[in-house]
Amino acid sequence: MAEAFYTPEEELRERIDWLIRLGWLTVLGALFIVLVVSVLLPGVLAWPSLLGAIVGLSLSNLVVFFYFRHLHFPLPLGEGRVRVSQRHYLGLAHALLVLNTLFLTALLHFLGGLETPLFIFYLIYVVIASTLFPRSSSFAYAGLVSGLYLVLLLLEWFRVIPHYNLTGFRSPLRFQQPVHVFVTSITLIIAAFATAYFVSRIVSRLRARERELMEANLSCEMRGEELTELNKRLREMDKARTQFIRVVTHELRAPVAAIQSYLKLILEGYVPPEKEREIIRRAEQRALDQLALIGDLLYMARLEEPGAEAKVESVDLAQVLREVGDLLRGQAEEKGLTFRVEIAPDVPPVNADLEHIKQLWMNLISNAIKYTMAGGSVVVSLSRNARGIMGTVQDTGIGISPEDLPRIFEQFYRAENAKALEQHGTGLGLSIVKRIVETYGGRIWVESEPGKGSTFTFLLPAGTSV
Ligand code: ADP
Repeated sequence: MAEAFYTPEEELRERIDWLIRLGWLTVLGALFIVLVVSVLLPGVLAWPSLLGAIVGLSLSNLVVFFYFRHLHFPLPLGEGRVRVSQRHYLGLAHALLVLNTLFLTALLHFLGGLETPLFIFYLIYVVIASTLFPRSSSFAYAGLVSGLYLVLLLLEWFRVIPHYNLTGFRSPLRFQQPVHVFVTSITLIIAAFATAYFVSRIVSRLRARERELMEANLSCEMRGEELTELNKRLREMDKARTQFIRVVTHELRAPVAAIQSYLKLILEGYVPPEKEREIIRRAEQRALDQLALIGDLLYMARLEEPGAEAKVESVDLAQVLREVGDLLRGQAEEKGLTFRVEIAPDVPPVNADLEHIKQLWMNLISNAIKYTMAGGSVVVSLSRNARGIMGTVQDTGIGISPEDLPRIFEQFYRAENAKALEQHGTGLGLSIVKRIVETYGGRIWVESEPGKGSTFTFLLPAGTSV
């Protein structure tokens, strides 16, 4: 679309092309007028001089034409040709127009000077200058044609150059009568300046409109591109959402299907009475799995909800860690793990939602307990460094294989070794943690070695008082 607009150089080239064609039209027009006058007033025209002027204009037009072609189709740069500048084209256009006005003056001279009404053609050049060049040039051309005409009349009047009489057309003495010289020259001067004024005004308004239109078009184009980009992003989001719904539905269906088949076994009498409790306990465990999944999904939905109100306040990370640590310590010790919490003394608060910070510690610590076998240890530490507040949860558990490492923060992703050790899990805990950390401008990463243990580290910017 942008190609529809001309660059300033292209526009100037087009104008010059047009001026050259106008030059040929002037040659033809002059020939026609001379022929008509010679038929109407036989034997009065200075034929040789007139033809000389016409041939002169044709030749100069030809020279400009070839020069322009040479500029117009330059060899590729770097092969000895220079780049054609805008000034160069502008100079050429002015040269063409001045040449034409000079020719008209010569024509007027040979066609009777003051006696011929053809001086009106000067106005055409003023109109052309007003449309092609800036406003100041319009007035310069009005001055030029007025000056040329005045000089011609004065030179003839004072007989510096001969006066060609159009015998039989007007009084032969007219060119030396002050009133005629004055009235004719004043008529041209006023007409030339009025033309320059009106035409240049109209043209400058048109140009302003054109510019506005171009700008509007350009911004429309940019909007169009933005919209296309937005549309693409929306489509991608829509795809991701559909994919998410598919996975969620699958995850939700699995426990229900398991519960339904346990119940069916009991109802149809396939389970001996002594095993019934065990089957019901398994069904209950699957129901609990599903409740955990629904809980995590709801939590995720709240986090993702656009404009969801997070109650941001100044949160003491150390205090929250102590509370969560006390809550989970029993679970760790019950499993036969050493559990330790190390908190540096100078940890400043963060600006965050208290619930989010609780969830962050809960998920990381309960994972460490879940994926560490009896006899192992879980060490949680909190400190501050130059980059912010740093929390680490270190365990001596099953670890994560290098292939699984890049994927464990994905929703629903569970590594095979984790599934083998612990059947129950939603695969959502770490994606929730990552989302929380990023919400507050932090980042989280993990280092792990299979069979040796894992260290999860997060960094949060220290908060200012809220
Ligand atoms: P879940 O624990 O319910 O499976 P998470 O999103 O919390 O889901 O964790 C995703 C996966 O990351 C886990 O299934 C496990 O493979 C791995 N993982 C997380 N924490 C640990 C850890 N402390 N040690 C080893 N693997 C872990």
